Amino acid sequence: MIVVMLGPPGAGKGTQCELLGEKLALPHIATGDLLREAMARGTPLGQLARPYIERGELVPDDVMINIINEWLATPGHEHGFILDGFPRTVNQARALDQALARVGKGVDRVIYLSVPVEELLQRIAGRYVCPQCGASYHLRTSPPRQSGYCDQCGSTLTQRPDDRREVAERRMAVYFAQTAPVIDYYQKRGVLSEVNGAQSVTAVLDAELAILLTLPSRTHTRTDRHGDPSQI
Ligand code: ADP
Ligand code: ADP
Ligand code: ZN
Repeated sequence: MIVVMLGPPGAGKGTQCELLGEKLALPHIATGDLLREAMARGTPLGQLARPYIERGELVPDDVMINIINEWLATPGHEHGFILDGFPRTVNQARALDQALARVGKGVDRVIYLSVPVEELLQRIAGRYVCPQCGASYHLRTSPPRQSGYCDQCGSTLTQRPDDRREVAERRMAVYFAQTAPVIDYYQKRGVLSEVNGAQSVTAVLDAELAILLTLPSRTHTRTDRHGDPSQI
């Protein structure tokens, strides 16, 4: 099963992808985490991405499409996967469709997490993240067991520089201009499910599982053009 998690900054994509990945035993990739790791390591990708991320703007499509294509080509994604933070433009969505079509696959379901903007800004303001494993916490709504440290791996939690109010507002504007059209793109393909993201983490997860676990069976086991059953 191939799932895309779509939603504005702070909607809960990272939180839900972690949980869904465990429940469905699917790998997931968070492009924001991948870019932040590259920045922390000072790789060429990190150096390229830094100015965009610091301004709250999108990293160019060709760079992101290459990243996803490389990730798709690595082993371990045969049984499906979950994408967090990709695609973020209609161009990226088209490129993903093309890449998947080449191997006889397609996006099975897009979960669109909708959350009011004021709630998003509050979530972003209180967000603490684990630089090591990408886990996301919130000062008020989901604090770690030991203040300042990751429950999963014990690393010291940090705040993202792009979560500062001015940058967060810019990211929100970029989302509405460049990412919101992706909602329409998937709606027209009939694979979009909107989930109310302004509920508790477990209520959102339950709503997502209800959608994903009742997908018609052909979306779990699909026969490709050559007649070989391939589990995706
Ligand atoms: P995204 O990946 O979409 O930017 P995150 O998963 O990082 O979003 O969540 C943003 C912030 O909101 C984090 O601090 C997270 O702990 C918190 N959060 C996530 N889901 C919920 C929820 N359902 N209710 C309240 N806070 C949430
Ligand atoms: P959020 O969790 O708030 O939605 P992410 O961690 O997914 O944010 O992304 C952080 C930043 O990384 C984005 O503001 C953008 O600059 C960059 N980025 C991540 N994914 C993409 C993408 N698919 N296309 C372009 N830029 C991206
Ligand atoms: Zn961690």
